[in-house]
Amino acid sequence: MSSLEGRIALVTGASQGIGRACAIALARAGASVAVAARNEAKLQDVVNEIAGNGCNAKAFALDVASEESIKTTAKAILEHFGSVHILVNNAGITRDTLLLRMKRTDWDDVMTTNLTGTFLLTQALVGSMMKARWGRIINISSVVGETGQAGQANYAASKAGLIGFTKSVARELASRNITSNAVAPGFVETAMTGVLDGKQRAAMMSIIPLSRAGTEEDVANAVRFLASDEASYITGHVLDVNGGMYM
Ligand code: NAP
Repeated sequence: MSSLEGRIALVTGASQGIGRACAIALARAGASVAVAARNEAKLQDVVNEIAGNGCNAKAFALDVASEESIKTTAKAILEHFGSVHILVNNAGITRDTLLLRMKRTDWDDVMTTNLTGTFLLTQALVGSMMKARWGRIINISSVVGETGQAGQANYAASKAGLIGFTKSVARELASRNITSNAVAPGFVETAMTGVLDGKQRAAMMSIIPLSRAGTEEDVANAVRFLASDEASYITGHVLDVNGGMYM
C-alpha cells in the first residue's frame, strides 16, 4: 500500500458511516485529514479516534447544502492546512418516495446536497490542487446512479449526475495531474440503509452475488486506493463496490 504521507485530504459527511471510515482509512495511510459535516460533536469523536491511532485530523463544520458554508469552510481548511490534495465528496442524503408523490422540496434537497454541494466544493478547492500539480477528486456515487431505483428518482438522478460531473472534471483536469473518479457503493450497512425494513433488506440481499451487505471499510478501501499514487493512471472511472449486484 503506497503512503499518503504529506497529503492533505478533506472528507465531507465524515461524522458517521462511509465518510467516517474513509477519513480513518486515509489518516491511517498517512494523510492529514479535514473531517467535515454538520454534526460537530460526532466529528470530534472521529478526530479523537484518528488521533488515538497516532494520526492527524481536524474537524470543520460544513453544510454542503449552503454555498456560504462551503466557501467559509473551504477557506478555513486552506488556512489551516495550506492546501487540499484529496477531496472525497461523500456527504449525501435520501428523500425516498415514488415519483407521483415526490415533492419539489424532496427533489431540490437531494440535488442541492448530493450534486450541487459537490460542484461548489470541488470548484472551491481545485485551485489548491492545480497549484500543487497533484490532486485526487473522489465522488461517492451509488449503484442506483447506474441502474435507477423505484422510489429514488431524485437520489438516482443526483448520483448519475455525479458520474457525469466526475468524467467531465477528469477530462478538464487531467493535464494538471489531477484525477477525478467516482466510487459507486451497492448496499452498505449504515444509518442511511438502516431505515429499510426486513422485506426491502431481503430483496436487496437476494440480488447481491457475494451474498452479503457491504461494509463501510469496503468502500473506504476503494477510496484510499483511488487517492494513492498506485491509482495515478486511473481517471474518469466509476469503481463499483457492490458485491456484484450490478456488473
Ligand atoms: P449516512 O450514515 O447517512 O451518512 C451521511 C453523511 O453525510 C453524514 O456524515 C452526514 O453528516 C453527511 N451529510 C448529510 N447532509 C449533509 C450536509 N448538508 N452537509 C454536510 N454533511 C452532510 O450515510 P452513508 O451510508 O454513510 O452514506 C455516505 C455516502 O455514500 C452518501 O453520499 C450516500 O449516498 C452514499 N451511498 C451509500 C450507500 C449505502 O448503502 N449506505 C450506497 C451507495 C451510496 P451530518 O448529518 O453530521 O451533516
